[in-house]
Amino acid sequence: MQCYVCRGEAERLSSGFDGERINCPDCGPYAISGSALAEMTAGGHTINTEATRAWLADQRERVEPVPMINTQTRILG
Ligand SMILES: [Zn+2]
Repeated sequence: MQCYVCRGEAERLSSGFDGERINCPDCGPYAISGSALAEMTAGGHTINTEATRAWLADQRERVEPVPMINTQTRILG
């Protein structure tokens, strides 16, 4: 599959929630909510790669190892 953050080749892991868990070799592991995916698809939006990678790195350091991108936390490109 394509990583939602960098559009590179990434792996989709099974998630126990409404959304997806992604393991990207370049962006690292992250989760994305079903509503964020729906919003992006409906609006034709993409995620801002650099800003989101910085956000993910900060979240991993301070909050949790697999940060959740949702409609509040997503940074659109
Ligand atoms: Zn990526």
